[in-house]
Amino acid sequence: MALMLGIDIGGTKVAVGSVTKDGTVQGEIMEFPSPEGGPEEFVEALLEQLREARSRIEDDVLGVGVGCAGTIDWRERRVIESPNLPLEDEPLGERIAKALTLPVVLDNDANTATLAEVRVGAAKGKSHVVMLTLGTGVGGGIVLDGSLYRGATGSAGELGHTIVKGNGGLCLCGRRGCLEQYASGSALERYARQIVDQGRLTGAAMVEAAGEAQGAADTAADPPEDYAKRLRELAAADDLNGKSVGELALDGDAAALDAVAEVAAWLGAGLANLANIFNPDMIVIGGGLSSLGDLLLEPARELMEAYAIRPNGTVAQVAAAQLGNEAGVVGAALVAWEVLEDVTLPV
Ligand SMILES: [Zn+2]
Repeated sequence: MALMLGIDIGGTKVAVGSVTKDGTVQGEIMEFPSPEGGPEEFVEALLEQLREARSRIEDDVLGVGVGCAGTIDWRERRVIESPNLPLEDEPLGERIAKALTLPVVLDNDANTATLAEVRVGAAKGKSHVVMLTLGTGVGGGIVLDGSLYRGATGSAGELGHTIVKGNGGLCLCGRRGCLEQYASGSALERYARQIVDQGRLTGAAMVEAAGEAQGAADTAADPPEDYAKRLRELAAADDLNGKSVGELALDGDAAALDAVAEVAAWLGAGLANLANIFNPDMIVIGGGLSSLGDLLLEPARELMEAYAIRPNGTVAQVAAAQLGNEAGVVGAALVAWEVLEDVTLPV
């Protein structure tokens, strides 16, 4: 059977699987811890992991799709920079091609996840789709007229670094006011810490809008005494993070819900911008925060409708991603299936 290798390179793990043309994973997805060390050490160890993975697959492998966190020069098959990987200006695609003696396509991991959701996930059958991955940071991908949109060099879709607040919070990218600073797992943690330290969210213009949309929190009244009790317990145990705050919110904790509402408010603004630029059929929300489901998506969707011009805000469906852990491997392989059908890349 003809298969394409899908490789997903992230900050904590490297996942490899073989995938059919219709997006079905054959056998198990193999996982390796992401290599440690400097650039050369990292790449050498990675290539060793990939050779090992390749040797375990008996079927005919036609080529390789690689999804990697970071900014990618798609035509040069080069990583320009990556926040959590030592791959600055690294010709990663070419090096993997030489190591495996197979044609390789290198793309951004949010792009590959987006294509996977469009081909076999939440947005199956849709032609105009934008995806936001809300994890520690915020990634993005764009599918227009059924194809991934990569821009002039391959770094389109950096939706997490669209600016939602002029001169706002400092972002890991070195710039200020990015969506990632307001609607990510790390933002959720920051809002929860603010509630722990100050008793409530302060200076949060957006949270009132979110409160209205949800018919929830009256931010003007003094919160009850046991408000934020469980957030304080998490903080005291050094266990306060986006995941634990999200779990509390799902359990109905009022303070955690207020922190989620703040994320939803900023997300609503981000979604409205995307709806106005792209007029998509659907915006897919992936990443860790998508596990909050309608707790996050419903108020964000209502705000998008309120903020975006008609009909963009009402046309765009907002849905949680469906593919979970497999998305990286499946999407990387699907990118390779699509590209390698049209062009022959050098090995
Ligand atoms: Zn940024």
